Amino acid sequence: MKQLSADIGIIAAGPAGLAAAVAAAETGAKIVVFEKSSVTGGCGNMAMGPFAVESRLQKKQIVGLTRDEAFKMHMEFNHWIPDASLVRAFIDKSGDTIDWLEGMGVKFVLAARHFTTSQPTWHVLATGAGAHGTAAEIFKVLTMKAKELGVKFYFQTPAQKILKEGGNIVGFQAEERSGEMVQVNTRAVIVATGGFGGDTKWIKKYTGYEWGSDLFSFKIPGLEGDGIKMAWEVGAAKTHMMLELYCSVPNQAEFWNIDALFRQPNLLVNLNGERFFNEEVMQNNTFAGNAVSRQKNRCAFMIFDENIKNHYAKNGFDQICYDVPVNDACGFDAEMQRAVDSESKDFFMADTLEALGEKAGIHLPSFMETVADYNRACESRDALFNKNYKFMKPISAPRFYAGRLVPSGFGSLGGIRINYKCEVIDKSFNVIPGLYAAGTDANAIHSDSYTFIMPGNSMGFAINSGRIAGEHAAEYLASL
Ligand SMILES: Cc1cc2nc3c(=O)[nH]c(=O)nc-3n(C[C@H](O)[C@H](O)[C@H](O)COP(=O)(O)OP(=O)(O)OC[C@H]3O[C@@H](n4cnc5c(N)ncnc54)[C@H](O)[C@@H]3O)c2cc1C
Repeated sequence: MKQLSADIGIIAAGPAGLAAAVAAAETGAKIVVFEKSSVTGGCGNMAMGPFAVESRLQKKQIVGLTRDEAFKMHMEFNHWIPDASLVRAFIDKSGDTIDWLEGMGVKFVLAARHFTTSQPTWHVLATGAGAHGTAAEIFKVLTMKAKELGVKFYFQTPAQKILKEGGNIVGFQAEERSGEMVQVNTRAVIVATGGFGGDTKWIKKYTGYEWGSDLFSFKIPGLEGDGIKMAWEVGAAKTHMMLELYCSVPNQAEFWNIDALFRQPNLLVNLNGERFFNEEVMQNNTFAGNAVSRQKNRCAFMIFDENIKNHYAKNGFDQICYDVPVNDACGFDAEMQRAVDSESKDFFMADTLEALGEKAGIHLPSFMETVADYNRACESRDALFNKNYKFMKPISAPRFYAGRLVPSGFGSLGGIRINYKCEVIDKSFNVIPGLYAAGTDANAIHSDSYTFIMPGNSMGFAINSGRIAGEHAAEYLASL
């Protein structure tokens, strides 16, 4: 087997792995990064921005949210279930990390909210229609910096096994494209392989969802729980594992404009034709995802009429799904026609409510009763869920529209237990010397729902935990 040596070996070059590589290389350590795909950046290449508080940018925008407040908010939202020291370390580091990235040349333009009632913690690089994926720039810059600092990258060379000798981590083995194995001898290893969001078997086993049937999350190729499995094999303790769940129309990426209209605070019914949610909470997509997941066949239908559609085209949306608008109400008709022409099983149009309910397969008598009740409530108040009156728009003007909403998500969360230094912890709560984990593989800082009220925090956690892991791994080397 080929042999190779370095101080620290990093498994994967996504946001967490790259941040770890640069942070460790800044101390002068010799770093190698082994990546399964042919590029750096991982899912970060599709993202818009990371979480931070007390960054220079936020201060410039006179955002008052402090680290103390963000910490309290995060812990209370998650009922103090996550490791408080880890959450604190991540939040405390986050503002400085934005400055660190800006120092390398990353140009953030806005500390944004994701939706109206969320906090302005989302540090985005661009706003407007082309904003999706602009975070890729962060990872280009980190890659360049890493190379400048002497970091060596090995692509299409997935790590397969972490090596442990006498209780200490001493490297890992990876497979080259040719099929030949390479042994990487190091004094510390950082695992950052992005979780299991691309593996339907793991999703079923650890979350209970059946991808393509009752879950339509981004299924990013290559994210197959590799790092989690390798860390477990050398004794890492397990954390709870979940999805970064939200709700959307199926195949959201093909139908952004449709998706935005079907996420406005209009009538939402389940297959039984009943309301089950205060639709003004739709903008908190994670909450909507939780509620939809509890319904029959884990789906629900958003209903509106021609008046409502025209209202959005003329006046804009009731609620924004993004503080940095990327959707266009005027683009709805064309997308909807495309969907209906392709005999979509998710989007329906009809000239009567009866026909709409029938096409969508909603229990008709109950649906008709619910619409009648809802329309009456629009004239007085929503006695059922007390939805804000300004969002109570009757469903009465043909044409009528229905869109199926389903559980979706960005990826997985959790797997490897770490402490606030991102050291991997075993089942007896002891540190495994030389083993670190960061990013999605170790992101167990949410209890039952992704903390969407402070947006950007999954990539924020990835970059910050990566940076923390890199710094502490370098410190560990110095202590040997
Ligand atoms: C469409 C989309 C939009 C998003 N937008 C945002 C956003 O705006 N803000 C936000 O906070 N979060 C966002 N996220 C989530 C964010 O991208 C992730 O939280 C972040 O990328 C996680 O970083 P990571 O390094 O842990 O893992 P990943 O980015 O998943 O990277 C993991 C890397 O590991 C590699 N790998 C896997 N197995 C191996 C192996 N055996 N050996 C070597 N390498 C391996 C993979 O190829 C990949 O490069 C978004 C996600 C998606 C899918």
